[in-house]
Amino acid sequence: MSKVIYPKVALIGLGLIASSISHAIRRAGLAAEITGFARSAETREIARGIGLCDQVYDTAADAARGADLVILCVPVGAMGQVAADIAPVLKPGATVSDVGSVKQAVIEAVGPHIPQGVHFIPAHPMAGTEHSGPRSGFAELFDNRWCLLVPVEGSEDAAVERMQSLWVGMGAKVEVMEPEHHDLVCAVTSHAPHLIAYTMVGVADDLRRVTDYEVIQFSAAGFRDFTRIAASDPTMWRDVFMNNKEATLEILGRFTEELFSLQRAIRTGDGDHLFDYFTRTRAIRRGIVEAGQDTDAPDFGRGGGG
Ligand code: NAP
Repeated sequence: MSKVIYPKVALIGLGLIASSISHAIRRAGLAAEITGFARSAETREIARGIGLCDQVYDTAADAARGADLVILCVPVGAMGQVAADIAPVLKPGATVSDVGSVKQAVIEAVGPHIPQGVHFIPAHPMAGTEHSGPRSGFAELFDNRWCLLVPVEGSEDAAVERMQSLWVGMGAKVEVMEPEHHDLVCAVTSHAPHLIAYTMVGVADDLRRVTDYEVIQFSAAGFRDFTRIAASDPTMWRDVFMNNKEATLEILGRFTEELFSLQRAIRTGDGDHLFDYFTRTRAIRRGIVEAGQDTDAPDFGRGGGG
C-alpha cells in the first residue's frame, strides 16, 4: 500500500531542516517526488551532488511549480520574499507550510501572498542541531520530537490532518497551537535559553583573567553545552530575535528578576533560598527526562555531537 501523502513536495531552502525533511520523507515513502531550491549556487550544487532531491532548481518558483506541498525552510526573515516568489505558480489545492521557529511574524509575512484556493498550514518542528547546510540533515532528526502545527484562521480540517500525517510519518509527535502561544512557549523553551548561552560564551570570551586554554580545557558539561548552543547559525538566530521580540523580552525580563534574586541570595548567604530553588528546577529536569524529551546520560546522550 502506498504511503504517499503529498505526491510532489517542494523544499525551499536546503539547510539542516529541509535536508532532514527530505531524508525523513524518503525513509517512509511519504512523497513520490521531491524538488528543491536554495539561494546560493554552491548549496544547489552540493544538494545535486548528494542527491538530496529528485530535482534541484535555480529558482524557488521552478521548484514549487506543480507541487502538492511547498515547505519554506529558509530563515524567518526570508519567508515573506520566498512566499512572494512562489505565489504565482502555486497550483489550486496545494498546501504551503514552513518550519520557521517563530510563527506570528511568519504568518504576517507569508499569509498575504497565499492565493485563494491554496492552504497555508504553518509548522515548527521542535528539533535541531547547531549544524547547518544541506549535508547536515538526517532522517532521524524528528523522531519522537514535537512538531507544532499553527493553522491560520479558516484552515480546512482535512488540510491540517494531511499535514499532521506527514509529520507523524516523519517520526514526530504533533500538537496544534495558537500562534501567539507558540511564540511564548518557544521564547521560554528555546529562544531565551539560546540568548543566555550566547551571553555566557561571550562573557567567558571577554573575561581575560580566565584564559581561552582554561575555558576550553576545563569546560565541564554545563559550559560545553552552552558553547554547542552558541555555535548555532547566526542568521537563523538573529531572525528569531528580530521576529519574536515581545515574547522573548517578556521572558528575559522575568529571567533578569530571578537572576537578581539568586544573586541577592548568594550575597546575603541565603542558602535556603538557593536550595529550594535548585530543588524545584531539578524536578523540572526529571519531568523532561520522564517525558522522553532527553536522556539521563551524563553527556545528555549527545555523544559529543548533534
Ligand atoms: P540552514 O541550515 O542555515 O539553511 C537555511 C537555508 O535557507 C539555506 O538553504 C539557505 O540558502 C537558505 N536561505 C538563507 N537565506 C535566504 C534568503 N534570504 N533567501 C532565500 N533562501 C535563503 O537553516 P535551518 O537550520 O535549516 O533553518 C531553516 C528554518 O528552520 C529557519 O526558519 C529556522 O528558524 C527553522 N528551524 C531551525 C531549527 C534548528 O535548530 N536549526 C529548528 C527548528 C526550526 P544558502 O545555503 O544558499 O545560503
